[in-house]
Amino acid sequence: MHDTRSVVIVGANIAGMTAARALAGRISVKVYEPTAALEWLPNIHELISGLKRPHNLRVERGPLLARGGHDWHRQRVVAIDPHRHQLTLEDGSEQLFSQLIVAIGGVHYSGTVPGAAEYAMPFKSVADCQRIGIRLQQLASRPGPMRVVIVGAGVEGVEALGEVLRRFGRRPGLSIKVIDSRERILRNLPAAVDETIRRHCATWPVEFCLGERVAALDGEQIQLQSGLSLAADIVIWTGGVGAHPLLHASHLSDDSGFAPVSAELHNDHADGIYVVGDAVSRVAGVELERQAYHAIDMARVAAANVLATRAGRSLQSYRAAMKPQLITFGELDTFMVSGERVVASPSLRLLKEAIYQAGIAGFDHRRGDRRLWGLWRRILDSGIDGSIDSLRHPATLLGWARVRILE
Ligand SMILES: Cc1cc2nc3c(=O)[nH]c(=O)nc-3n(C[C@H](O)[C@H](O)[C@H](O)COP(=O)(O)OP(=O)(O)OC[C@H]3O[C@@H](n4cnc5c(N)ncnc54)[C@H](O)[C@@H]3O)c2cc1C
Repeated sequence: MHDTRSVVIVGANIAGMTAARALAGRISVKVYEPTAALEWLPNIHELISGLKRPHNLRVERGPLLARGGHDWHRQRVVAIDPHRHQLTLEDGSEQLFSQLIVAIGGVHYSGTVPGAAEYAMPFKSVADCQRIGIRLQQLASRPGPMRVVIVGAGVEGVEALGEVLRRFGRRPGLSIKVIDSRERILRNLPAAVDETIRRHCATWPVEFCLGERVAALDGEQIQLQSGLSLAADIVIWTGGVGAHPLLHASHLSDDSGFAPVSAELHNDHADGIYVVGDAVSRVAGVELERQAYHAIDMARVAAANVLATRAGRSLQSYRAAMKPQLITFGELDTFMVSGERVVASPSLRLLKEAIYQAGIAGFDHRRGDRRLWGLWRRILDSGIDGSIDSLRHPATLLGWARVRILE
């Protein structure tokens, strides 16, 4: 028999914490999450330039879960048995569940490239990007060349490049190489974004090595499959999110390693198990971009369906909202992309900043003055007060806004 009282959430970052918040005050759930603080990942690239600091991107999850009446266990789940409805935890203990929300996201992925695990720096967490920022600062403060290689010309790679240029772009001896196996920067987005980024980079020491694959890394040498060899003082690996191995090990995944779900977000292979956020491969057969807003919306639907099941009501379906994507390119530009439409302007960064502020404030457990003070501190720390100051001077504002529609 299943323990009908135990609803469990595994993984409590953006999706898991959203589900916990949606269930707060309604039912008490057990939450399994090994790390202390929620991390707002969409802005971690700003740690590279120092525009944000680690505390700007973290929110302690303990008080929020306690206030919601939830029971937080700082443990990693090492196995899920979908048939017995049972979890195994890293200390070897077991936990039965009646309904389970799996929100374990993805993992840093550098494939099977020899040397990548040893020599490339991952780009997947606050700690990762903090380490990259520190390493870049060390390189910048010593004499001689500063050879930066970024693997991946997707969103993370472009945002990382923008922040390296923001902070170190004028350092003598800087050279940056961006490697991607595809021929286009941001290959899923309209070609105008690729062209604009290349134009911006024409006056900076940036070289794009597109259509190239990394074959091996060995200390300061990167070997490409084409036979080319590059020297690097730092290799930043942004090349994609890999499937969490727990999904395959628990028979929740498809061939991609991620977990397919129905429109109600039930895992295709298991009853009573919802999968949400970056861990999902397809919703009702449709593939989605791994975006925070999808993770948040899915988590709300899964939480509503947990409650509906308990109350014997019919389940909700998840409908993916198509919101525009915002990609920052340091201080040079920001792109807002909706389908084939692209609007670009450095000033759109304020919009991404507003989304960050709203997102992180949503997880801030404090009330009243303390919450407002936290918000104010984050705004001051973000360095946007200087940008807001320019709003007082219309001429400056017009020059600074430079809003363009890219065709
Ligand atoms: C560099 C970067 C830039 C991004 N930019 C944007 C952007 O501009 N806009 C946007 O919308 N999205 C962006 N995203 C994507 C967005 O951050 C993700 O879609 C979102 O974080 C997914 O949330 P999640 O909760 O599913 O997974 P995650 O945020 O990855 O959280 C997974 C959680 O599960 C926990 N966990 C893992 N394994 C276990 C286990 N075995 N047991 C218990 N807990 C476990 C982890 O500790 C973690 O807390 C970006 C992501 C990155 C990495």
